Amino acid sequence: LPILLHSFLYRKAATATGLPTFLLVGPSGGGKTAFTTLTERGTVPTTHTSTAPLQIEALLPDPHVPASSHYRSPGDPAFERSRRFIIHDTPGHGKLRNYATSTLADPKNVRGIVFVVDAAAIDEEAGLNEAAEYLHDVLLSLQKRYTNAKTSKGPKEIPVLIAANKMDLFTALPASAVKTKLEKAISAVRNNRAKALRDAGAKLTGEDDVDEEKEWLGEGGEGSFEFDQMREIGTTVDVIGGNVSQGKNAGDVAGWWSWMGEHL
Ligand code: GDP
Repeated sequence: LPILLHSFLYRKAATATGLPTFLLVGPSGGGKTAFTTLTERGTVPTTHTSTAPLQIEALLPDPHVPASSHYRSPGDPAFERSRRFIIHDTPGHGKLRNYATSTLADPKNVRGIVFVVDAAAIDEEAGLNEAAEYLHDVLLSLQKRYTNAKTSKGPKEIPVLIAANKMDLFTALPASAVKTKLEKAISAVRNNRAKALRDAGAKLTGEDDVDEEKEWLGEGGEGSFEFDQMREIGTTVDVIGGNVSQGKNAGDVAGWWSWMGEHL
């Protein structure tokens, strides 16, 4: 009962507060809605529809501690306040995906981006390509936000967590393989996009002198894309495995909550 009462009170209060926010993005079916519900209520949902953006307020669950409160003790009102945050769940499919990347252009209070992906789907070409394209666009939005920033210091860094979900499935790839597969697939997306731009530019002007630099993710040159290249624009990318559910029960997402705590 206390948990239910709690989430009722907080659901009403959400959005208005200006609390630190984590943006949930990723392909449809990865587990965003399930993760939102688990974080909000401590249970996994039986039915779900993630067709509209949803913001809920949550508390960082025990025993995770917000980085800003490492020296505070439980019971200290400042400690309790610092555990509060908003999860902003975004729809993963079709046109609505633009919503996620446009939110990144004006990321009020965004402390981090959690890219939820089905680690079993990554082992199939279609699933891998869909995830890689989406992630490419998210990272490119962050890169543009950085390079377009007016201040010399650059905007506040926004870290990215790739939450490799469904580790309970025996077909799920381990986090390290999810990482390398995505890096490789993003390299391909990057090349394809550049080629498409060149072709379009050549058609328009009859030459191929389009400024591709702004659309090129990460380091230039012939090398392949690696997440570490995002450090230059102030973005760290971590890949952590987890599973929101385990059969009908809650699974284990401690690694993701701990990552969120580090950025609270
Ligand atoms: P969303 O489209 O990203 O919001 O994904 P959902 O949260 O709707 O989840 C898609 C499907 O994956 C649902 O049927 C969930 O029950 C299922 N799912 C979510 N997390 C897990 C998990 O950790 N393991 C397994 N086996 N299934 C999961």
